[in-house]
Amino acid sequence: MTENKGVLIYGELVSGRLSSTTTELLGCGRRLADQLKEDLCCVLASDAVGEAPGQAIAFGADRVYAVEDSALKEDQADAHVQVAEKMASEASPRIILMGQTPTGRDLAPRLAFRLKTGLSTDCIDLAIDPETKLLQQTKPVYGGNAHALFTCDIMPQIVTVRAKAMTPLEGDDSREGDVIPTTVDIDTSVIRVRIVEKIKEEVTGVKLEDAPAIVSGGRGIGGPEPFKTTLKELADVLHGAVGASRPPADNGWVPEAMHIGLTGKIVAPDIYVSVAISGASQHIAGCSGSKTMIAVNKDPDANIFREASFGVVGRYEEVLPALTKKLNELLAG
Ligand SMILES: Cc1cc2nc3c(=O)[nH]c(=O)nc-3n(C[C@H](O)[C@H](O)[C@H](O)COP(=O)(O)OP(=O)(O)OC[C@H]3O[C@@H](n4cnc5c(N)ncnc54)[C@H](O)[C@@H]3O)c2cc1C
Repeated sequence: MTENKGVLIYGELVSGRLSSTTTELLGCGRRLADQLKEDLCCVLASDAVGEAPGQAIAFGADRVYAVEDSALKEDQADAHVQVAEKMASEASPRIILMGQTPTGRDLAPRLAFRLKTGLSTDCIDLAIDPETKLLQQTKPVYGGNAHALFTCDIMPQIVTVRAKAMTPLEGDDSREGDVIPTTVDIDTSVIRVRIVEKIKEEVTGVKLEDAPAIVSGGRGIGGPEPFKTTLKELADVLHGAVGASRPPADNGWVPEAMHIGLTGKIVAPDIYVSVAISGASQHIAGCSGSKTMIAVNKDPDANIFREASFGVVGRYEEVLPALTKKLNELLAG
């Protein structure tokens, strides 16, 4: 039997370039492969892989399997799982990493089932046990209230990794590696999903996931208007974006894409200003990676103050305009 060795990443592309989650996986995969003193390889499968294989090497891969096939044009898991299964069988890795993305969530369980192994989803930390060489997989449980550590002694060990949980390496175009064009016979007759329509998310200004600062509003904001005025004005001063907890999205005050948390977006900005948000664990699950959290809430006992580095007890209608004004003065001076 072949010995399982190395780390394999099943990467994702956005318009012919590596997705940001894939660069994060490569940073993490490089660290794990170095600890194991084994190779890091990456599978890139699409109808056209463009410059992404070279990019994957610059971001840490030793070897890239480039699979181009028109059947991979739409991201159907029924097609990708055939590629992933074949590459996993050929490369025989010890570890397979995928993003906790819509594609990764769809693909990883199918792949784990086909390879008769386990799967940990939504991991936020990964390390190698120096004695057993097994992957220590940390993931939030109970809605983010606790972290649990898992290991799996069946090979390959498959995990999906939460966006922004890992740091990418600096891209280095002088790094060397091999790009191996690979053909996989994809049986299109088993593709059961048909993409009927794609609706592009409308983004004006900074994208929430990439924003260095986020001003996020909760149910206590009371309606849609302040998201466009009071919160937006502060976000603009910070060169950031406006986000929300789930109730404003459920109430239709803001688009669904702005909702942060367990069932929404995961963000990790430098500054997260939480405004009129109580601090439920399901919300914190989406913003706990923020470097500095500032909370504004009229209730001094709100849970958000346990999470925040700085807090202001007061009505946001008074606190936010004063904060925006002061920041503008400081920036002007
Ligand atoms: C399975 C599941 C998944 C979930 N996923 C998510 C998720 O992804 N994201 C998410 O956010 N929630 C999620 N929730 C909901 C979550 O449990 C909370 O209900 C939600 O986060 C509460 O939102 P909130 O803090 O905006 O509202 P509330 O809990 O109602 O808090 C409003 C806060 O505003 C303050 N306030 C009111 N008026 C003012 C004012 N004028 N000035 C200052 N402060 C004021 C109040 O003191 C209060 O603390 C989920 C729940 C479940 C069960």
